Amino acid sequence: MGNFVIKVEAAGSHGCQREVPSGQKVAAGCGAPGCPDCIARLMVALLKKWGTNVGSATLTHWPNPDGTLKADSVVDDLLTYERKGSFNLKHGESNLS
Ligand SMILES: [Zn+2]
Repeated sequence: MGNFVIKVEAAGSHGCQREVPSGQKVAAGCGAPGCPDCIARLMVALLKKWGTNVGSATLTHWPNPDGTLKADSVVDDLLTYERKGSFNLKHGESNLS
């Protein structure tokens, strides 16, 4: 046994459930074969199912190139399913506050 970190940086199509507001839980998802959000959730669920103790897992939408958050970044916790940030910011709003 040992600790490990899985890091994936990717670009591609949009995932599902963009309408879920900050502070709310994202549901299981659409299950579409190419949905990146559902694939990320499934990967974490499978790790847990097969006995991996997952300490933290997040899906960050629209990060800076170095992985840090920017004003419109949205972070989904893949363990609690809680979303932090909104995809529907109005002019002048920020997800960082
Ligand atoms: Zn999906």
